[in-house]
Amino acid sequence: MLKYPWDIIGHDRQLLVLEKEIAEDKLTHAYLFHGPKDTGKFTVASVLAKILLCPNNLCHQCRDCRLVKAGSHPDLIQMLDKGESIKIDDVRALVKKTNLTSQGKRRIVLIENLERMPLEAQNSFLKTLEEPAGETIFLMTSTQLKKIVPTILSRVRQMEFSLVPDDLMRKELRGRFKDHTDFEEVLQMAQGRPGLAIRLLSEPPALAAYKRIYNQIDLMLKQNDLTGKFSYVEDLEGDAEQLDLFFDIFCQILRKSAHDFLMTGKSQLSPRYNLVSVTQLFEQLIKTRYLIDRNANKKLALENFLLSTEK
Ligand SMILES: [Zn+2]
Repeated sequence: MLKYPWDIIGHDRQLLVLEKEIAEDKLTHAYLFHGPKDTGKFTVASVLAKILLCPNNLCHQCRDCRLVKAGSHPDLIQMLDKGESIKIDDVRALVKKTNLTSQGKRRIVLIENLERMPLEAQNSFLKTLEEPAGETIFLMTSTQLKKIVPTILSRVRQMEFSLVPDDLMRKELRGRFKDHTDFEEVLQMAQGRPGLAIRLLSEPPALAAYKRIYNQIDLMLKQNDLTGKFSYVEDLEGDAEQLDLFFDIFCQILRKSAHDFLMTGKSQLSPRYNLVSVTQLFEQLIKTRYLIDRNANKKLALENFLLSTEK
């Protein structure tokens, strides 16, 4: 049984470990919760910050709890992901703040998606991580460990948050969304990411956007229409959020199709595809995303990829 209201689905094993460390006062000075996005990492880090800043084990009523809720607790330093990378100046400011003495017993530094920190900034951050002033606990998350320098990785306690089984998501979400007409479809789309499932179930525009891209990709896989595909690239290349979604959904469609081929010998994907061609397309997709991630020409990379969907 869990003691604290973590407000996530799954990951009981990790939560029990954390609760034991809190109870025994054996917390490490730096945690890195990593895994796919929308699996609950940042929610856990935020709840843990609240627990550690409240002198009464998360009472929701004391001054500390109220300040955390208002986003103005003096001992809580946050670097939230608003879609931008972390600038070296932000890290300098963070280093400065952590060198001041905390007002209360301990200070918490909460960093969402640490991989947003450029390499040079990671090196200056490393020093703070090694020698913070007073009692400081770093609670950080990441979806891409590969972008974090090994010297940081070796100094933090890593905890993995993997995808949550569909059955568990269905069980936990059914009560809240029992009348939602797209409930099962959303579970399929979310592919083990409760945060995504909740967003799609509770925000109709998000679900509509998701479905639009889903249908677009479905069509791309069914038809030869290079002009249409290339004009879609123009919409995508200027919109980072849309592009991210496009890759996510494409990935998920191909993964599901490969799974269906393996389990049943067939797939609902266009008859133009078999297991081999789906796997090849999947590899192309991963490669394209990798290239764009490393600042390759977006338009060219996307056009090349969509060329491979023509038969
Ligand atoms: Zn409190």
